[in-house]
Amino acid sequence: MIYLDAAATTPVRREVLEAMWPHLTGEFGNPSSSHELGESAAAALAAARTAVAARFGCRPSEVVFTSGGTEADNLAIKGIALAVPRGRHLVVSAIEHEAVLASCDYLARHHGFEVTVVPVDREGLVDAAQLASSLRPDTTLVSIMLANNEVGTIQPVAELARLARAVGARFHTDAVQAAGSIEVNLGALGVDALSVSAHKLGAPKGIGALLLRSGVPVEPLMHGGGQERGRRSGTENVAGAVGFAAALASARPSASVQLRDAFIRQVLEAVPGTLLTGSDRQRLPGHASFCFPGTSGEAILLELGRRSIVCSSGSACAAGSDEPSPVLLAMGYAPEVAQTAVRFSWDADTTPEQLRDVVRALVESHAAVRGIGVR
Ligand code: PLP
Repeated sequence: MIYLDAAATTPVRREVLEAMWPHLTGEFGNPSSSHELGESAAAALAAARTAVAARFGCRPSEVVFTSGGTEADNLAIKGIALAVPRGRHLVVSAIEHEAVLASCDYLARHHGFEVTVVPVDREGLVDAAQLASSLRPDTTLVSIMLANNEVGTIQPVAELARLARAVGARFHTDAVQAAGSIEVNLGALGVDALSVSAHKLGAPKGIGALLLRSGVPVEPLMHGGGQERGRRSGTENVAGAVGFAAALASARPSASVQLRDAFIRQVLEAVPGTLLTGSDRQRLPGHASFCFPGTSGEAILLELGRRSIVCSSGSACAAGSDEPSPVLLAMGYAPEVAQTAVRFSWDADTTPEQLRDVVRALVESHAAVRGIGVR
């Protein structure tokens, strides 16, 4: 099998599991307990927090461990919006993850917020001037993702954050897809809050973090024992946090841009009529997404699966749905073209030979779906 769905999730690496094992067995204490086992759990959690902070350019006290990217996004959007008294206006891009969009929708329905959706261009890029013109004196929070999960487009977040913060609005970025793939640094990006998720980079599902710049007020979603400095109650997932830190410590170099570009070129040449979706320059290194007009994305996936190639039709959350991707629609693709989307995503372990095999399998799959023989 060739696994090209790293944007959906990644397997837990051996060294990560080995780092976690003691904290699931002998060292199983609750970090809030005052006995020896509790103290050693608290020390492991603190070490993991320090490692995560160092990797993402923030202070340990600015790391709020969560159950993953979805919770980090919810905490950022609802938590900041409800805690900042500035106003009730939110700004997001048209291609945000559902965790961001649905959180905004919740605030609109239950708390009277108004949400401005900034459009993106054909490559999925937010225009800085469009963002600037959507900002208002009552804008509380702007949320624009660092890299898109479906089309891999990387936004100019540092520039966009500067605009928002210049008028006093807070800025959150969802860096779930970017972390582990490109440099992600809270300070360099100049954002107030940033979401990451560990299962995209070789650690288990169920752990992630919101990096929250000190001084940014947040209303917790979870009330209880006051863990995570009152920002996220609940007994901490010590083994998960240790695994997250271990995955960051043993991170491979990111996938090669040259390999990505060669793969994209080969696909465009081998399957005439194919459209590359997203940007050819501002895109994640291990990410290539296409539309194959005149086919069905789901049918191509099935054919690829028969040839032991595992990839996706877009976001894992939307997989299996017949609806065209809202991300591609927002980028200006017609629904019948958006329905033909296929996404390939991989990490540094994927070889040029494997990607060549994928191109061959894709040519066969495309022909099978179109009902024509392979030349
Ligand atoms: N944000 C983006 C951009 C994602 O791609 C995902 C997951 O695919 C999430 C948020 C949700 O993260 P999690 O699966 O950790 O809840």
